[in-house]
Amino acid sequence: MTRHMADSLTAMPNAELHTGTPIVALEHSPAGWRLVDADGAHYGPYGQIVISAPPPQAHALIQPWDDALTAVCVTREQRACWAGWAIFEGPLPLIPGVTPGWQMARLDHPMLNIVSRNQTKPGRETQPESVSLLAQLDWSEAQLEQPAEWVAEQLLTAFKRTFLTAATFPKLIEMGAHRWRYAQPTTPCEYDYLYSANGLALCGDSFRGGRVEDAWLSGHRLGEALIGRSVR
Ligand SMILES: Cc1cc2nc3c(=O)[nH]c(=O)nc-3n(C[C@H](O)[C@H](O)[C@H](O)COP(=O)(O)OP(=O)(O)OC[C@H]3O[C@@H](n4cnc5c(N)ncnc54)[C@H](O)[C@@H]3O)c2cc1C
Repeated sequence: MTRHMADSLTAMPNAELHTGTPIVALEHSPAGWRLVDADGAHYGPYGQIVISAPPPQAHALIQPWDDALTAVCVTREQRACWAGWAIFEGPLPLIPGVTPGWQMARLDHPMLNIVSRNQTKPGRETQPESVSLLAQLDWSEAQLEQPAEWVAEQLLTAFKRTFLTAATFPKLIEMGAHRWRYAQPTTPCEYDYLYSANGLALCGDSFRGGRVEDAWLSGHRLGEALIGRSVR
């Protein structure tokens, strides 16, 4: 979705897109804001900086510059989520009583929360059988510092035991797990975004509910609020 939206940037004069560039500091001068990356390179000056990183990560950038936004970064706590995946040589066997083309399951299970079949998503029909295994938040936080390989094994075993017998499982091609340390907001938020008169703004799913739609609405509404503003 973001790649599709970024396509239109190439047609805009003066628009530059830098990906894979961790920003470690903000600097301010009469000319505006500059971003400093991990290699010391500078970007800008810009009139407005929008940070969509989860608040605990935005904190380090905001803290030297804005007390009100810093306080929000501190109070908008995020919960962690382990996300596993597994790719199989063949399709999963049918589960008795379940539609063959099932796409997603939400579980009442101490470890597993959501299972989704990625090849059922639009545009991925030619991909092999691949499942995402999202862990429960309580379990994720209890196992937060475990190695990814161990977590992947645990999630896959829970999936197999819950859904199917090992004897009927297709051959595994690849599996793994990723720790999302700042995956979901702990509490709901009464505003969709936040900005300061000094040209700094915060947005992202953490200001709403923790899903893609929340992220989009937060950024879209911030964009609408900033249109026409000129901040230096
Ligand atoms: C495991 C998992 C599965 C999910 N599945 C679904 C789903 O099926 N459906 C759904 O609707 N939602 C799902 N979500 C939620 C969805 O991914 C989020 O709502 C969405 O990605 C939030 O977008 P965002 O732009 O607010 O934040 P993010 O996607 O977190 O983007 C913030 C970006 O900021 C970057 N960043 C952080 N610090 C810096 C820095 N210092 N410099 C530069 N960049 C930085 C990060 O690398 C990241 O790319 C899932 C989330 C997780 C964790």
